[in-house]
Amino acid sequence: MNSSFWRPDTNQKRAILFMEALGLIHDLGKLSDTFLQSQEPNSTLEYIHNLLVDPRQIDIYKNHRPIPNNKASSMIAEWLRDAGGKPAAFQERPDLTSLLLNLQFDDWTGTKYCLAELMPLVARPALARKTPSSEWGKVLGKEMTPGLLIGYLHGVAHFEKQGDPDDKNKQPYSAVFRATPFGLEDRIETGKNELTTTLKYLPLSNIEPITSNQRRDWLRAMEENMKRGLADTRRPHNEVSLWDWGYMTATLAKAAAAWIFKNGWPRDNDLGKIPYRTLCITLNRLVLYSRCDKIGDLLGVRQVLDEAYRKVQRLLEEEYALANRFYRDETGEYYLFPDLGYSNEEMIALREAIQAQFPPDLRPQVHLGEPVTAGQLDDSNPSAVRKLVAEPRGQSMQEHTMRAGNNLCLFEWEWGNGRPENAEICSACGVYPIGYPREGSSHDLERSLSYWATQAEAQRLQVCRVCLDRRRRRAEDWAKNNFQGTIWIDEVADDNGLVALFVGKFGLEGWLDGSLVSTIKVTHNEVKYPSPARLYRIVETCRSFWQQVTDDLTRKTVGQRPFRLALYPATNEVSKLGNFHAYELKADSIALSVIWDKSHRRFLTIENLTYLASRCRIPEDALMDKLRGNNLHVVEPSEFLSPARTSAKVRVERVDKLNGYTPTIPLLAEPSVYMAMVPAVKALELARNVKRKYEEEMGRVRDRLPIYLGLVFFRRHTPLRAVLEAGRAMLNMDGGDKWEGWRLVDKNLNNGVCELAFDNGITWKVPTVAGDGQTRDEWYPRMYEGDSRDSKKVKHVNDLRVRNPQIPPDKGWKVWVKPSRFDFEFLDTNSRRFEIYYDQNGRRPRRTRPFYLEDLDRLDTLWTLLKLKLPAKAQRYQVIRTIEDTRQKWYGRDREEDSWHDPVFQQFVADTLAQAAWPKTWKWTEIEQDPQKKQLIEAGVKGELADLAELYMEILKE
Ligand SMILES: [Zn+2]
Repeated sequence: MNSSFWRPDTNQKRAILFMEALGLIHDLGKLSDTFLQSQEPNSTLEYIHNLLVDPRQIDIYKNHRPIPNNKASSMIAEWLRDAGGKPAAFQERPDLTSLLLNLQFDDWTGTKYCLAELMPLVARPALARKTPSSEWGKVLGKEMTPGLLIGYLHGVAHFEKQGDPDDKNKQPYSAVFRATPFGLEDRIETGKNELTTTLKYLPLSNIEPITSNQRRDWLRAMEENMKRGLADTRRPHNEVSLWDWGYMTATLAKAAAAWIFKNGWPRDNDLGKIPYRTLCITLNRLVLYSRCDKIGDLLGVRQVLDEAYRKVQRLLEEEYALANRFYRDETGEYYLFPDLGYSNEEMIALREAIQAQFPPDLRPQVHLGEPVTAGQLDDSNPSAVRKLVAEPRGQSMQEHTMRAGNNLCLFEWEWGNGRPENAEICSACGVYPIGYPREGSSHDLERSLSYWATQAEAQRLQVCRVCLDRRRRRAEDWAKNNFQGTIWIDEVADDNGLVALFVGKFGLEGWLDGSLVSTIKVTHNEVKYPSPARLYRIVETCRSFWQQVTDDLTRKTVGQRPFRLALYPATNEVSKLGNFHAYELKADSIALSVIWDKSHRRFLTIENLTYLASRCRIPEDALMDKLRGNNLHVVEPSEFLSPARTSAKVRVERVDKLNGYTPTIPLLAEPSVYMAMVPAVKALELARNVKRKYEEEMGRVRDRLPIYLGLVFFRRHTPLRAVLEAGRAMLNMDGGDKWEGWRLVDKNLNNGVCELAFDNGITWKVPTVAGDGQTRDEWYPRMYEGDSRDSKKVKHVNDLRVRNPQIPPDKGWKVWVKPSRFDFEFLDTNSRRFEIYYDQNGRRPRRTRPFYLEDLDRLDTLWTLLKLKLPAKAQRYQVIRTIEDTRQKWYGRDREEDSWHDPVFQQFVADTLAQAAWPKTWKWTEIEQDPQKKQLIEAGVKGELADLAELYMEILKE
């Protein structure tokens, strides 16, 4: 345990963190309206964006020794000339030169530098190759290696030389747009000098925080602002922001500097030899969450994990100054680590230092990925980029499945002699024994627990003290946070007591490994290359998509509940109640969920009061009167193996209204996976809104970046494990993320939108102009076309060929897409979750499911039609019942979908529909010419009408 691992000393750390800062700000000269003006088509303005400091104010440049035929020397002469005669970046932020003059550090040779001296070198990738350090040494008396390093890594992080866009794709200053990596553009407010203003207010007057515990806050402020700037204004390279590029350069520079401090400057100045490895700190949140029985346990686990990962981040980024986190998701967090050649002992010590930040029952795996050098990353070699995220992530996911269920034995020793014989295991974590740790048995562990997490209380609730602490601490924090949002499923439940687990997922695999980035065109013979900065940008765009779904879309869709109630009992009756413990208050005609808020000596309602009122058969407004003055039993909710029992009897003396809240509980918002609890009645509308957002933002690449949306409906007291297992199962609806061949039957170009109609009834509207509404988007809306999956080639959507109807369906070309899907299930029984599984073709035993995402609209339209034409519920129900009963009678379970292809059954469905009580104006004749009726018949034959009835009548209770 005493072994350690190499890490930088205090002086080295300071140097590394300052080099990181330099990497971050290396290209800030582009955060300027003058830069945008200089990039206009035919601009004559020559703006020196990489002179962010004035070399005339820096001693080594002022006093440099000119040497003929020395490249460094002529470069310096050029800078001094430019600084005197041309608009340059330092004029945009004049205080920066003196600020950077004051920040000093010693490099690997003990040479002292200030950041200002290095600044002119750091945005020039070719410098390290063309002017070796010795030349700088002769002219300046210093070899300038830290500057050469960052300049070189600026090229590794992102490429200028690769696929240079045409100059005709420059943007006029009057309309400059930045893009997402999927081609959605947003206009820069040049009228307000957006970039120059941003540069002015960037928190650069104090860069020191990057070396201190204010580091995260400082970086967040930098990110917020640097995101506005562009690394390149030419389309389609206007998608990488200055933050993406700066942060990637900083991250590469940090690890490289640590490596050089240990190993020395690379021989022959060959910076391409500097090796990296991804440090993976992985643990599958989905698995851990779905082990939880209660939402409080899940949120408690999440909080503990978030805190632990934050501590790891502080440790690695700040205290050790070895590496930056550059990717994270539900599988874990990933750092770009220098390949320091750690021995086994060193690796064990590092692993232990990281794992020690986590509680013993939630320890992650820690390992290093395969080595990859800066040179390989610079060489635009796709297999190198795969080593950064795609491969380590894939590996960790495999390990998770191998390790699942294997955790118990890990903890045998932890129980030690504190473990009573035949101890029962905690019902929350399933790891520790109930009541663990015994009072006085483990000083370290007990110290981390709240005072109220006693052994007696834990034993009473059949959990360990660790879980008890997590569960209640979550509630305590919620209370401290002024009861923002909710953490209670009973509050999320809709007015019928139903809840939905909303799951979402992007099919990101082909983007993470870089392969699909090449579908985006740069010039007629160049495609985009997956640079590290670009991958970072792709991932963070998807994360922010889900974050906006949480912060914005869900709130808007779900709306606010108007109030909660606070119930104040007579004070002598409550001494034994547990702080932030959930109880039920019961009387003859009422039972409601509350928690006890000890410091205010009050109960707070934690359920949907409309639903409560409807159970009591009174209007919601009458609830306060009904509760006031009432005598209520305080009942411990029934737990696993322990029936409900009364802990006290109270008289409610006063009832107050508290603020309202949004009834939703976000669980996960990672780049690929999203999960949230929402009221069932709002879930379908939310799915439609997310679909719309996806189409707006990802519409140009929807054929390659599929989205999967799933809804698991359940009654509010359904065990959480069943719900989460169902949700996890639903995430597999991608069916292995396979390509499907769709036949294009019609194509229309209209107002910058290309409408594609496929023979499966799906129509896509793909935007084909850039953000200005005029420039033709040559770059993003490109799809695969070909006779087979293997022979498919990328084409612009405008050039896709419509099929001649004479071509037999199994012949000819198709458009190859990864379809988006939608699925739902109602857990009317816990075991219903076992019906959510997908075969190799991505189909479920219920053959209508999953649906294509686009079916959301089609089915919605059909249901609206059905309601309009058959307003009586009983009528609709009758028709659908008849069809399904007959299917059952004729075909049994119908696994092979015989009913779908049987003309006799089709006729039966058509007849049954025709006989319903349709309005007189809507006769069921000439069906062949009536697309609406044809669609109803098709949906009836497939069983989709039954799905609709289940969804709208049974679940949404329309
Ligand atoms: Zn536990």
